[in-house]
Amino acid sequence: MSTFVYITCPGVEKYRFSAHHPLRPERVTFSQELAQMLGVLRDEDFVKAEPASSDLVAEVHSPRYVRVVQALSEGKPVPGSHVFGFASSDNPPFRGMFEASLAVVGASVAAAQAVMDGAQVAVNLAGGLHHARREEAAGFCIFNDPAVAIHVLKQKYRRIVYLDIDVHHGDGVQWLYYRDPQVLTISIHESGRFLFPGTGHPDEIGEGEGRGYSANVALGRYTDDEVWWWAFQQVVPPLFHWFQPEVVVLQMGADPHYTDPLAHVMLTAQGWLRAVQWVAEQGIPVVATGGGGYSLPAVVRMWVLALATLKGLPVPNCIPPQFALHGEVQTLYDVDVPDMPERMRQIARQFTEQSVNELKQYLRPYVEWGGTHEKANGSVPQYP
Ligand SMILES: [Zn+2]
Repeated sequence: MSTFVYITCPGVEKYRFSAHHPLRPERVTFSQELAQMLGVLRDEDFVKAEPASSDLVAEVHSPRYVRVVQALSEGKPVPGSHVFGFASSDNPPFRGMFEASLAVVGASVAAAQAVMDGAQVAVNLAGGLHHARREEAAGFCIFNDPAVAIHVLKQKYRRIVYLDIDVHHGDGVQWLYYRDPQVLTISIHESGRFLFPGTGHPDEIGEGEGRGYSANVALGRYTDDEVWWWAFQQVVPPLFHWFQPEVVVLQMGADPHYTDPLAHVMLTAQGWLRAVQWVAEQGIPVVATGGGGYSLPAVVRMWVLALATLKGLPVPNCIPPQFALHGEVQTLYDVDVPDMPERMRQIARQFTEQSVNELKQYLRPYVEWGGTHEKANGSVPQYP
């Protein structure tokens, strides 16, 4: 098994709710295409996944929900199906969604299996559908592929970190493992006070035996690179040090980018990439997935940068003229940085500092932090 594996998800283009839905499969196909053009992905990296079995999915979701998804996918009427999340315009049922969802899960399971077989990094950019609940589709997510990947990883590993840097709270994965001390979930997201799904507050720290194994950094609106990286450093390295994970599932949602139309966090590609870089440097096996991201040029640039970083490659910072999006963007790193009034930066900083301090207080009975009431001032990221 080579050390870096890129999983392809056959039929990825079929995971499409409607013609104008923001979760476009081109996010994945364009990223893959550009990564190949730049030599970031090579033929030997590719592993083609099989769809997951419905039996495996029904070990994480309820068997009843799996049957509902299959029936709606075949166009059959399901009385009461609105309670399963398909009444919302976020998740309209579509023909073939059962097979498309099994394909996405299968690719994340293949990534988990590759790591269990000895790969250092395995990536499924089509995955990261972190909002799906046990019996409910939510936030464009039908089956929760990261949760199924974790379920498979538990066959081998006793300590699994799920780290979610999508701008939305990784609620589905959190709730599915909320009582499980084998899985530490960490989510860094725009506060649920301002953004879907409305959860991910600092006091959500797990229940029962899982108490202390759920961590939520709720960011203020307009959080920029500096404050985001400060919050990451305050929380993630101490939690890794405390928990000593054997494997990491990294959800790489690209929607914290400042051009994203669905959220209000103001990261650059290079600011976001620092988190991926940090994870790659830990020497722990990584199952990496995609996730959100609704500005197509931003997602593609960020995921190509992430692939190169996870593979340990330098990246040429230029997009070839033959690439489809060349007319819109010519560099992988951001050249322009968001221009925000200092007052907005201050508000975001204060909100995020308070949130991090609350998180530390709630987890203090379980985690040794060292230092408290830190300030975000003075940690300026260095851009390449
Ligand atoms: Zn998201």
